[in-house]
Amino acid sequence: MDLGTGTDIVVVGSVNLDQVIEVGTLPVPGETVQGGPIIRLGGGKGANQAVAAARLGRSVAFVGAVGTDADSAELRRELAAEGVDVSRLAAVDGPPGHAVVLVDRQAENCVVVSPGANSALDAGSVRAAGALLESAPVVLAQLEIPMPPVLAAARLARGTFVLNPAPVPAAGLPTELWPLVDVLVPNRTELARLCGVPDSAVRDAAEVARLAAGLPCPRVVVTLGADGALVRENGRCELVAAPAVRAVDTTGAGDTFCGALAVGLAEGLALVEAARFAVRAAALSVERTGARTAMPTRARLAGER
Ligand code: ADP
Repeated sequence: MDLGTGTDIVVVGSVNLDQVIEVGTLPVPGETVQGGPIIRLGGGKGANQAVAAARLGRSVAFVGAVGTDADSAELRRELAAEGVDVSRLAAVDGPPGHAVVLVDRQAENCVVVSPGANSALDAGSVRAAGALLESAPVVLAQLEIPMPPVLAAARLARGTFVLNPAPVPAAGLPTELWPLVDVLVPNRTELARLCGVPDSAVRDAAEVARLAAGLPCPRVVVTLGADGALVRENGRCELVAAPAVRAVDTTGAGDTFCGALAVGLAEGLALVEAARFAVRAAALSVERTGARTAMPTRARLAGER
C-alpha cells in the first residue's frame, strides 16, 4: 500500500541525457564543423530541479519516464545516487529523452531536444503516484512533458503546486491549468511569451511587475538572472536582489532556483523568504560549471563549502 508519507517535494517532469559538444563556431545551415569529445550529462528540467532540491537536504520523489536502454538505466542510477526517490520513474519502450547541445567559445549554444520517453508520460502514471502527490507539501512541475500529466499533478496536489512554465507552449497555458497553479515561476523570456509581448519588453523591473500583475495567478516569482527575482503576492511586488558573484556558467541557474524555492516552501517559509533562499542557492550555482555539478549542497549554502 502506498502511504505516500515522508516526501517533502514531488517533481513531475522530464529527464534527458544531454550530449554536449564544444565547437569553435556554431555551424550555419548546411555546414559541418569539427567538435571536441562528446560529454554525457544527466539533464532535463524535471530531473535537474529534483537534484537541486535533494542537494539542499529535502526528501524528493520524481515522477517521470525514461526508456529501457542502457542510457536510461544510467539516468535512473544518477538520480538515485543524488538521493531522489525514483520508484515512480517509469520505464517505457524506446530511448530516454536526449538533448544535443553545441556550445561555442563565447558560451553561445544551440540545443536540439528529442523528447523520447518524456513524451510517453501520461496522466495515468501521475495518478498512480496519487497518494504521494496528495501528501507532499510541495509539487513542482515544468513543461518538458505533455500537458495531461501536468494537469493531473496540479489536480492531485493538496500542498503548494509550483509551475515553472518552461518551455511555454505556442498556445500558452490551458485555461483549466491557471486556477490550479499556486506559484508560477517564469524567467523573463517565459514571462514575455505568457504575456504575448516581445522579449525586449521585459528588461526593467517595473515592466516585469506590470506584466506579472496581468497574469491570472496570484503568486508569481519571475527570475531575473543577475538581477535576482521579483516576487508578486497579494497584489504587492518585492525585488529580491541576487548577491554579486563571479558568474562562470549560468546553465541550470533556473533549475537550481526552482528546486531551492520548492525546498523553502516545503520548509514553511513565506514566498518572499523562499525566493531569498532560492536566489542565494542559484547564485552559488553560477560560480561553477555544469548544471548539476554546480548545484549547491546545504553545507555549501551555509558557507561551509
Ligand atoms: P534561467 O536559467 O531560466 O534563464 P535566470 O537567468 O533568470 O533563469 O536565472 C535564475 C536565477 O539564477 C536568478 O533568479 C538568480 O537568482 C540566479 N542567477 C542567474 N544569473 C546570475 C548571476 N549572474 N549572478 C547571480 N545570480 C544569478
